[in-house]
Amino acid sequence: MLQQILRLDGHLQNIYLAVYPDKLLLLDGCCRADVPFVLATIRDLLGRDVRQLKAVIVTHMHADHAGGASYLKKATGCQIISANRSKQWYEGVEGRINYLLDLSLSYFVAYRHGSSLKNLNYPRELFADICLNDGDCVPMFEDWQILETIGHTDRDLSVYHQQTGKIYVADLIIKLRNQHFVNPYNVHDPQAYIQSLQKIKQLQPKLVLMAHGGQAFIDNQTFDKLIKKAPKVVRTNKDIYNDIVFRVVKKKFRRK
Ligand SMILES: [Zn+2]
Repeated sequence: MLQQILRLDGHLQNIYLAVYPDKLLLLDGCCRADVPFVLATIRDLLGRDVRQLKAVIVTHMHADHAGGASYLKKATGCQIISANRSKQWYEGVEGRINYLLDLSLSYFVAYRHGSSLKNLNYPRELFADICLNDGDCVPMFEDWQILETIGHTDRDLSVYHQQTGKIYVADLIIKLRNQHFVNPYNVHDPQAYIQSLQKIKQLQPKLVLMAHGGQAFIDNQTFDKLIKKAPKVVRTNKDIYNDIVFRVVKKKFRRK
């Protein structure tokens, strides 16, 4: 029986730990820099053996969702669960470049948030112990169901707890500090992204757990707004970089 879903402030994102009397499930792979904090939380706050962490879900391959998984496995022996894909997300030369761009963006975001400089480097390739498809239950945690909610990348997962009506959507929806809900900047497949939003809306979850912005109830009107405002064209790392450079240049000119 699920006791609680513990929400922790990670280096770049929220971390959600599903707590059971004798086992623990981490709903996403967090940053490499979060690993000591997660282990200390299990030991000191929950008073548990770290080996009670039985599984870590990797919702997608970005540094704040996959970065800690392999290190947590080494420390606890937990199983890594991910989407069922034949290819790595960061495959080939283009994949290597994207990996470096994504990683440097994570460092940039940490810097912008005023976080201390921590090592965020992580393996570019993920070797999951368990690959799941849409609708599958999470092994060892059968009360959690995997939903494919792609669009942000080609392999995004959401994790749904039907009994409580809570769903963790990773980067599908982001809540800003001003309480507004927005689409993520990076949208790999705009059409699939909209379908994923519709899928979550249809579930009518009681609470949506986000990697950025905590947890909130999202009403139909807000879902419709997110669907309406969803990018119509692909937004890639290149666009993010162009946007950052543009903003920096604009700022410099304004100062003169
Ligand atoms: Zn992401």
